[in-house]
Amino acid sequence: MSSNDNHQICSRCISDATIPDIRFDERGVCNFCRIHDSLNEQFPLNDKGKQKLDQIVGKIQRDGQFRKYDCIVGVSGGTDSTFCLYMAKRLGLRPLAVHFDNGWDSEVSIANINNAIRILEVDLEWITVDFKEFSDIQRSFLKASVPDVEIPTDLAIHAVLHRVAAKNNVKWIINGMNFRTEGIQPLKWSYMDGRYVRSIQERYGHLPLVTYPNLTIRNMVDFSLIKGIKTLPLLAYMNYSKAETKDILRREVDWSDCGGHHFESLYTRFVITDLLWKKFGIDKRKIQLSAEVRSEKLTRDAALEILKTPPGGDAEVTEIVLGKIGFTEEEFREILSLPPKTFLDYPTSYPLIKALKWPIRLACSMNVIPKIFYEKYLGAQT
Ligand SMILES: [Zn+2]
Repeated sequence: MSSNDNHQICSRCISDATIPDIRFDERGVCNFCRIHDSLNEQFPLNDKGKQKLDQIVGKIQRDGQFRKYDCIVGVSGGTDSTFCLYMAKRLGLRPLAVHFDNGWDSEVSIANINNAIRILEVDLEWITVDFKEFSDIQRSFLKASVPDVEIPTDLAIHAVLHRVAAKNNVKWIINGMNFRTEGIQPLKWSYMDGRYVRSIQERYGHLPLVTYPNLTIRNMVDFSLIKGIKTLPLLAYMNYSKAETKDILRREVDWSDCGGHHFESLYTRFVITDLLWKKFGIDKRKIQLSAEVRSEKLTRDAALEILKTPPGGDAEVTEIVLGKIGFTEEEFREILSLPPKTFLDYPTSYPLIKALKWPIRLACSMNVIPKIFYEKYLGAQT
């Protein structure tokens, strides 16, 4: 086994030793490449994969045949989620679109959502959180000095999709997760758990969680095991090209580009291009570019070339974000200088997840829990 000096880089993708919990095998290939290959087998882009998708679509239709909707699709206005909604309709499903509004949507993304649901004739449920409360949680995560500051949003999206599914008695949630283009985030950059959000808010926040849709492990067990709600990562079954997809969306649902990957939210833009790079030295493009290299959408050399230019922060975006969230420049400088931490420094349900490793593995093999959950929370750590 090779040692993890900080310069070692995977011989297949472009992930390097700056990524937490990365390990390299005797050929110098990283564990995230191994996870990619395992997901590639689970979601093959061949006739077998197509058959599997057809079967699931048939099951979704049967499960929802006497209901108004047979699936829930979360929409952000970005490429992936808009395409999921478009494809759900093309596959003959009857989706209910759900949007979680955390107060940071760009005008372009709101227009994209409205155009898509109008043209595709889909109903939309728009769920809002009190911005005073939500920005207090966002401030708490910044004060906690952890890199996964987008978890309050990501977790709330999962929560509202499950809640809306349960309320409407819908058994399926379609998401746009795609390991071939998005990659696999290391756990220490994206640990998602309601207890984590609660403990950080209790420690650093000023407001209680009232309108925030939290999602604990117990809630997840209830949604998946008791209510039988399942998730379909639709794009993982498709040979997906971002450029072609954007063209389809422009043509078919009057969609416009938000200007960058995950730039449909101003806060996300600030996090990716400024905070993570300046404070933690994290360049999230490594994850996405590695995925594209593994999927042969980009050569390794081209990806390495892109990385030579550091992620550029936009001073204007940072200023707007700090103003809106209620931090002065000085307070932000203080946050930048705090020693970096991870979810392991806070009370979470992670010890419980680890203790339930084998039951979780079993539930994944029975498709009760998405297999990617096991790979991310337990697979990379072994
Ligand atoms: Zn690799």
